[in-house]
Amino acid sequence: MSEKSPLPPFEKGGSGGFAVDFWANLSRRLGSDLLLTQASGGNTSVKINDHQFLVKASGLRLGEVTTDKGWVLADYQAIRKGVPDIEKKQGVEAKSNAYQSLLTSSTLTRGPKISLEAGLHALLPNRWVAHVHSIAGQLLGLMPEEEARDFCFSLWGEDLKFCWIPPAVPGHELCSKVAENMSNVPQGQTVNLWILQNHGIAWGSDSDKKILGAVDAFEEPLRKRFGLHRYPPPVIEPLASHQRPAPKGKTWYQVRLPGWPTCHFDTTPVLTDFPGHFDLWSDTPPDFIQADDRTAHILAASPREIDGHAQVFYAHALVSTIARQEGWFRPLPPAAVHAIKILLIERPAEIY
Ligand SMILES: [Zn+2]
Repeated sequence: MSEKSPLPPFEKGGSGGFAVDFWANLSRRLGSDLLLTQASGGNTSVKINDHQFLVKASGLRLGEVTTDKGWVLADYQAIRKGVPDIEKKQGVEAKSNAYQSLLTSSTLTRGPKISLEAGLHALLPNRWVAHVHSIAGQLLGLMPEEEARDFCFSLWGEDLKFCWIPPAVPGHELCSKVAENMSNVPQGQTVNLWILQNHGIAWGSDSDKKILGAVDAFEEPLRKRFGLHRYPPPVIEPLASHQRPAPKGKTWYQVRLPGWPTCHFDTTPVLTDFPGHFDLWSDTPPDFIQADDRTAHILAASPREIDGHAQVFYAHALVSTIARQEGWFRPLPPAAVHAIKILLIERPAEIY
């Protein structure tokens, strides 16, 4: 990628050169854990000076980035300056278009597009930011806020600072809601953990090592609390064409959740990823069919695509199951589901 760049940001021995190594390590580490990231969800960034940041490109999975691919360089000050104008636009499509234009005009490298969540990364004050679709974090976001705060305080005391962001359409609306909440951040304190309800979490810190340490300290007790180890990953099997005929170039797959002690899954969207990946709410033939309470039939064009879809099905089923058991199932607002469908977001064409 560097030869395509109009800027030489990562000269050998420069601070950016070190940053890209650490950024790739952090990204791959977070991207290798199914309970943290599924399909192409999740993104990471590092601010390398007072106006440039390196942020994940869209289309690649977090676990696949390297020092040479999967990142773009952009001007985070330009993004911050442009965010207030997005809210002045009328309608979800106009706002989304304005946001996308802002991200594009702020991108300094040619080639891959910048991550849809670059606005979130630009706004957060921390040098390092990691956004993941943590299952434990998504459950914490569904838990009643007071109970969640008490639970977190019992684990970490004052060491972690939290901020809750209500359900939002990924991209422009999430960015606007984070911008609104920036004024709630107490002066002189760093908010380390942003709970993005019905979506995921974002960590911010001055160091990549501190983020990795915080992820471990956060995930382990929460996974234990929710019993996540009792829910094995999905099993994928292609369906024979006589079982479910598929359009040309595509295959129906059966995705099962074997060995789960219980499963309370239906197609009511609780996470933004679910309507982003599957089309059950338009007039076109569905690409996701619930076959029974722990099996889905999913249409995909390649083994790689079904792998990503199955990960999102798994995450959605797991969060639904535990949230229903606990009595805190709170679906995504219908307006957000509708907006995700018309914007076709969180489902960018993946670069292989
Ligand atoms: Zn996300």
